[in-house]
Amino acid sequence: MQIIAQVLFLVALVAGIGFFIRNIRRLIRNIKLGKEVDRSDNKGERFAKMARIAFGQSKMVRKPISGFLHVIVYVGFVIINIEVLEIIIDGLFGTHRVLSFMGGFYNILIASFEILALLVLIGVIVFWIRRNFLNIYRFLSRELKGWPKNDANYILYFEMVLMVLFLVMNATDYQLQLNGVPHYASEAGITGAFPISQFLLPIFEGMSNATLIIIERAAWWLHILGILFFLNYLYYSKHLHILLAFPNVYFSKLRPQGEMDSLQAVTDEVKLMMDPDADPFAAPAGDEEDAEPEKFGASDVFDLNQVQLLNSYTCTECGRCTAECPANQTGKKLSPRKIMMDTRDRLEEVGEIINTKGKYEDNGKQLLDDFILREELWACTSCNACVEACPVGIDPLSIILDMRRYLVMEESAAPNELAIAMTNIENNGAPWPYNQQDRLNWAKEN
Ligand code: SF4
Ligand code: SF4
Repeated sequence: MQIIAQVLFLVALVAGIGFFIRNIRRLIRNIKLGKEVDRSDNKGERFAKMARIAFGQSKMVRKPISGFLHVIVYVGFVIINIEVLEIIIDGLFGTHRVLSFMGGFYNILIASFEILALLVLIGVIVFWIRRNFLNIYRFLSRELKGWPKNDANYILYFEMVLMVLFLVMNATDYQLQLNGVPHYASEAGITGAFPISQFLLPIFEGMSNATLIIIERAAWWLHILGILFFLNYLYYSKHLHILLAFPNVYFSKLRPQGEMDSLQAVTDEVKLMMDPDADPFAAPAGDEEDAEPEKFGASDVFDLNQVQLLNSYTCTECGRCTAECPANQTGKKLSPRKIMMDTRDRLEEVGEIINTKGKYEDNGKQLLDDFILREELWACTSCNACVEACPVGIDPLSIILDMRRYLVMEESAAPNELAIAMTNIENNGAPWPYNQQDRLNWAKEN
C-alpha cells in the first residue's frame, strides 16, 4: 500500500512539474516574440530596485492596510511552502516529518508556519470581502467583469482551502502522535509544535485512529496536489506576478520615469541632416538595399519590446494605475490596466495559434483596433501617473506611446487638433498658426 502511494506521488510530482516547465517555456517563447531590448546595464542598481520593490513590496505599502495584508499573505504563503520540501521527501520515501531531526528548531518552524497560515487565512478573507462587497471603484471597472473577477476570487478560495488543509493535516497528525499510532508517534516525543491546529482537536474527539488517518492522509494529499495545481494554474492567471514581479522590476527602466524613448531611425536621420560632412547617399549600417523598411511604432505585439510583453504577463490587475489615471478619472475610455490586459490577451492569442499550428499565421487581428481602441490611446495625457503607481514596475505609457507613434508615422492618423499643431511646428517652428517673422510682435509697442 505504502509503495503504491509513493509511486502515485512520484507520478503526480513529475506531471505537475512537467506541465509547469512546459508552461514556462511557452511563456518565454511568447515574450521572445517581442523586439530585443538591452537592459544589461547597472546590474547593482537593478538588483537593489528589485530587492526594494519586488521583494520588499515598497510600493504596495503606499496603501497601508491592503499593502500590509498583501505582505502577510505573500510572506506567509512563501514561507509556509518551505514545508512542501518536507512533504515531497515524505511522499517520495514514505517517511513521517523527515525534517524533525532538527529538534527544537523544527518545532519553531512548524509553529511559525501555523501562525502564518492563520494570518494568511485572515488576510485572504479580508481581501475577499473587500473585493466582493466593498464597492471599491478599481474592482468594479468594465475590464474586470467575467474571467478577471473570477480568477481573482478563485485564487482567494484556493488559498483559503490550502491553509485550512494545512491546519487540518497538522491537527490530525498531532492527534495521531498523541494516540501513539505507529508511523506517526516517535520515541523522541511529539514532533512539531501546533499552536493553532491544537484548537481544532475537539473536532476530532472520539474518532477512531483509522478515521483520523484517513482525514490526515486526505488533507496531506489534497494539500500537495493543490500546490501542484496552483503551480500550473499560475500561467493562466494574473497571479503569474508571484514569479514575474522579480524579473519585471529588474528589467524595468532606470532612467527618469518621464523620459521617453526616441526612435533610433529618426535620431539617425536627424543627425545626418545636422552633420555637414555626412554623405546623404550612404546607407546607415545594416540598412541593406533589399531590407524591409523599418516599421515605426507598434500596431501589434510583435512591434513591442520584450520588456513590454513581460510587463503584460506580470500585471496583477490591481487597478492602482487606473485609479490614478486622470483620463480615467474624467470619464475617458482609457484604463492603463486594460492596456496591459489587452496586450496580454493578444499575446496569448498569438501564442495559442503557435501552439496549434506550429508557427504564427495571420488571423486577421492585431493589438490596435481589435483590442486597444484609438480613442483609448489618444485619451492619454502621458502624465506617467500609472507608471508611478504600479507596484511591480509596469510601464503602460510606453505601449500607448509606441502605438500612437504607429498611428502618426505609419497611418498619419493623429486627431485633427494634433495634426494641425504638428503641421504648425513643421511650418512655423511652433504649434500656433503664426508666421515665424511675427514671433516678436508681442514685444512691439502699439
Ligand atoms: S500616462 Fe496616460 S494612461 Fe498613464 S495615468 Fe497618465 S493619462 Fe493615464
Ligand atoms: S499595470 Fe501595475 S498598477 Fe496597473 S493593474 Fe497592472 S499591476 Fe496594477
